[in-house]
Amino acid sequence: MRNWHLYNGMLYRNGRIVNESLLIVDGIITAFGVKADQASLALGQRVKSFDAEGCLISRGFIDLHTHLREPGFEEKETIETGSRAAARGGFTSIYAMPNTEPALDSILQLEAFLKLTEKARVKTYPVATLSKQRKGQEPVDYKALTDAGVRLFSDDGDPATDQIALESMNHLASLGGVFINHLEDKSMTNGSFFHEDIPAESEYLMLKRDIGLVKKTGCSYHAAHLSCAQSVRIIAEAKAQGLPVTAEVTPHHLLLNCDDIKEPLGNYQMKPPLRTRADQEALIEGLLDGTIDCIATDHAPHGREKEGAFGPNSPFGITGLETAFAALYTSLVLTNRLPLERLLEALTVGPASICRENDQIKIGVSADITIVDLNKRDKIGKKDFYSKGTNTPFADKEYIGWPVLTLVGGEESFNATN
Ligand SMILES: [Zn+2]
Repeated sequence: MRNWHLYNGMLYRNGRIVNESLLIVDGIITAFGVKADQASLALGQRVKSFDAEGCLISRGFIDLHTHLREPGFEEKETIETGSRAAARGGFTSIYAMPNTEPALDSILQLEAFLKLTEKARVKTYPVATLSKQRKGQEPVDYKALTDAGVRLFSDDGDPATDQIALESMNHLASLGGVFINHLEDKSMTNGSFFHEDIPAESEYLMLKRDIGLVKKTGCSYHAAHLSCAQSVRIIAEAKAQGLPVTAEVTPHHLLLNCDDIKEPLGNYQMKPPLRTRADQEALIEGLLDGTIDCIATDHAPHGREKEGAFGPNSPFGITGLETAFAALYTSLVLTNRLPLERLLEALTVGPASICRENDQIKIGVSADITIVDLNKRDKIGKKDFYSKGTNTPFADKEYIGWPVLTLVGGEESFNATN
């Protein structure tokens, strides 16, 4: 049934939180307030009622940076398991990074990906590569891919080479695509994962290069997972100059710094690395003042293989979709560092403006909705993740504020009471 009457809840729309009912008919948002209550009465048994007392009702969250690992690394994650994890975390749209095998670098691979997403629990969209096989040499067919509806492009996992950065921005500027870069100059890094091993310079010097190219080409540019104060400053300057630049930050870079790293080290092995307390503060400030547009999880599961262990060959990345909201709400909103409205904006309006999805709860749009119980106290144990990835410092931590019902087009994709 795709008819819902959500009542007694706190509705987030137009940047404000108001007490208002919501009616969904055939998966479409149809009415608010008294009109919703009356129309729901008329529908009788044909509508499912949900008492949202103590709950927040938001447009479903959008994650611009998810690794789903399929095709090629199904032992780490699949579109099915990753999208189930997304639904549990309150995300109704996720964008899959193309560092898969094969990589999404052609129309043929796009078609194969779209076929795979038929199993997805939430709206699952592709990010295409900037270069063939992400090798940084040969460009992909940007026109064919944008004509087919792809909007975001990235060689994520690896940075865009000088040659591909210029060539792709030249094309994407006229096609309306967005260039996303994983900022890491690998000539400045060594094999380990600490702040000293992957220095801030390896990120912000490449960001400076990119901003120079944006000036030259006019291409829409999105900086992935910012980790240092210098990068926040560079983005602020670029925005002040009116350049089409946006940026994201992950929950772990907002909530942790390098002093928090402890055993098992594998739970903290990610790119970019956790940096200093001052960097963490700059990221929170950047999110608060709008320099940083959105929060993206960089959900990067590794199956059960990683299990928190760190070794010379252990892979980078932690899992993030399921704990993102609760960890952020508990650690930033309940401590008065960040208004709840700003957190919600960074999970909905912010990313929507970059991927050009509908950004709001409003009449006539698809009912992609997240309901969060703001009083629910809970934790996710290592064994209880829906994701195949379990390596995260946020496992087994008690947080307040968990998604309890996720609707995609009015269809129930997660229900904590089931
Ligand atoms: Zn990356």
